[in-house]
Amino acid sequence: MPLPRLVPAEDHVAVQSTSFATDALGRFVANTWEEATSSGLFSAVVIGAGAYGAYCAVQIRRVHPDARVLVLDAGSLLVGEHVQNLGAMGLNVPSPIMPSADPGTARELVWGIPWRGNVEFPGLAYCLGGKSIYWGGWCPRLTASDLAAWPAATRAWLATHYSLVESETGVVPATDFIFGDLQAALLPAVTAAAAGVPGLTGVEALPLAVQGAAPVSGLFSFDKYSSLPLLADAIRRDVRASHRSDTARKLFLAPRAHVVALHTSGGTVHTIELDVAGARKFLGIAPGCQVVLAASAIESTRLALHSFPTPLMGRNLMAHVRTDFAVRIARSALPSSPARCRPPRCSYAARPRPGGSTCSSPRQPAGRTPTTCCSA
Ligand SMILES: Cc1cc2nc3c(=O)[nH]c(=O)nc-3n(C[C@H](O)[C@H](O)[C@H](O)COP(=O)(O)OP(=O)(O)OC[C@H]3O[C@@H](n4cnc5c(N)ncnc54)[C@H](O)[C@@H]3O)c2cc1C
Repeated sequence: MPLPRLVPAEDHVAVQSTSFATDALGRFVANTWEEATSSGLFSAVVIGAGAYGAYCAVQIRRVHPDARVLVLDAGSLLVGEHVQNLGAMGLNVPSPIMPSADPGTARELVWGIPWRGNVEFPGLAYCLGGKSIYWGGWCPRLTASDLAAWPAATRAWLATHYSLVESETGVVPATDFIFGDLQAALLPAVTAAAAGVPGLTGVEALPLAVQGAAPVSGLFSFDKYSSLPLLADAIRRDVRASHRSDTARKLFLAPRAHVVALHTSGGTVHTIELDVAGARKFLGIAPGCQVVLAASAIESTRLALHSFPTPLMGRNLMAHVRTDFAVRIARSALPSSPARCRPPRCSYAARPRPGGSTCSSPRQPAGRTPTTCCSA
């Protein structure tokens, strides 16, 4: 049943409560537009607090400790980490639709399509963390040939920092839960078979970001593919270091701030035009302030094309290339596959597979049944 809207009151509270929730996390990491923009000038403005924008903001602060950074996001706080860790909460991804059929209102609470393309698409998740809150299961490293066309500075940085980024974004350690006896048997067999497949350049164990070592198997890394926990942590550190003085703060996150256009002069952005909770705002930025477009690949390109088109911009846009296929392999084809599972690596699910053996573990969560790990 629809609820009455909350009516803004004259008095102010530190943390707001609704009928069902206390907005503590939102208040602890985010600031209102007025709070953020009246605090002083910024050295960098990051547009978008998805996986890329959130990580970028944290990184700017690390490399330039004196920099003042403002992160703007069109969405608001939905959850603080990956949805898959939170059970069946009803936070769904809508079905892909033709952008021309976009109803123009949020689907599944936060999803919308801000462009008019000719392929079906689920759209963008307008929430802090962006799509990374919902998606991200695997992330193989880019190869040297993948990176060949990237800027030299990026290549050089990744050469020494790739492992750190993978670790901080939950990409590694990978598959410590699901890489078991079956994968150990499959990998050499597939590698041997691959030698006869033209065009296949390599075989790797799937670098899935599913972890299970602690506290129980089956959990994803808490920062799995989402930099939102990193950004929240950086903001809380900044709040503590500044003794809660906004003018001393160096990292702000302003939600419900949808960037509409960037106004430029001589190729340099001087004003950011936004829709902030339904009101048109203009944020003048200081000369030298860096503006980072991190509103997802297509939306960032759309914004740039709208604000300062260049002849090559948008000509080589690529998003998400992956092909999945399923194969069935007879158990007899894997003679070295052990018949029994290793007890410490079992997982948990609602029901055990009928007729199979089950594993027990002292870490079994209350109310959950151990799954079958393998059947002999
Ligand atoms: C079906 C599917 C499966 C995927 N699986 C994987 C996978 O297994 N592994 C993997 O690595 N990746 C995967 N991805 C890709 C991954 O989800 C994205 O590449 C990544 O989350 C993109 O992060 P981002 O920060 O660039 O963009 P987003 O996550 O889209 O974040 C953009 C942010 O910008 C904000 N924003 C948008 N427009 C504006 C605006 N105008 N003004 C202000 N703020 C704005 C949004 O609210 C959002 O918070 C998958 C994607 C899909 C669609």
